[in-house]
Amino acid sequence: MTQALKYETASSGETQALAARLGEIVQSGDVLCLSGDLGAGKTTFTQGLARGLGIEEPVSSPTFTIIKEYDDGRIPLYHMDIYRLGEAAVQEDLGYDEYFYGEGVSVIEWYGFLEELIPEDRLELHITLAEGDGRRLRFTATGPHATARLKELEQLCPTSH
Ligand code: ADP
Ligand code: MG
Repeated sequence: MTQALKYETASSGETQALAARLGEIVQSGDVLCLSGDLGAGKTTFTQGLARGLGIEEPVSSPTFTIIKEYDDGRIPLYHMDIYRLGEAAVQEDLGYDEYFYGEGVSVIEWYGFLEELIPEDRLELHITLAEGDGRRLRFTATGPHATARLKELEQLCPTSH
């Protein structure tokens, strides 16, 4: 259940292509938690995932809006960036549960600030910088739904690790 699925990408295009495959298989109620430094590629990954969902509206960083919803894909995408709220995130009543337990897939940048409110069964993705434009992507699953999704992703995108 906690076994990690690891990838390396050499460009933002490669990161988005991988994310798009995940976007093709995510289901209602899936939660994807993203971590990694500023500029690691969390928003870039989300853009690829949106493409895989068939979303055509451009996905931008929701730093100022905190939550942005995209409804023109196979299922809704709820894109959250908690960075600006920081420690105050858990006190803000932004109706998080409507998203986490809603019809769409939730993707959360800087989820650490919101950890206690996020469903336990979730996919986590940590992105780190590698040489040049390289990135290391490490997925872990913390429950049965997330584990199933990770296995599907592994089938679609085999990794050499
Ligand atoms: P974050 O949301 O984690 O702060 P962004 O996705 O906004 O990061 O920014 C990542 C930046 O790094 C973008 O400018 C993107 O084009 C660039 N980049 C370069 N190589 C990669 C890669 N392999 N994967 C993802 N992004 C990359
Ligand atoms: Mg971002």
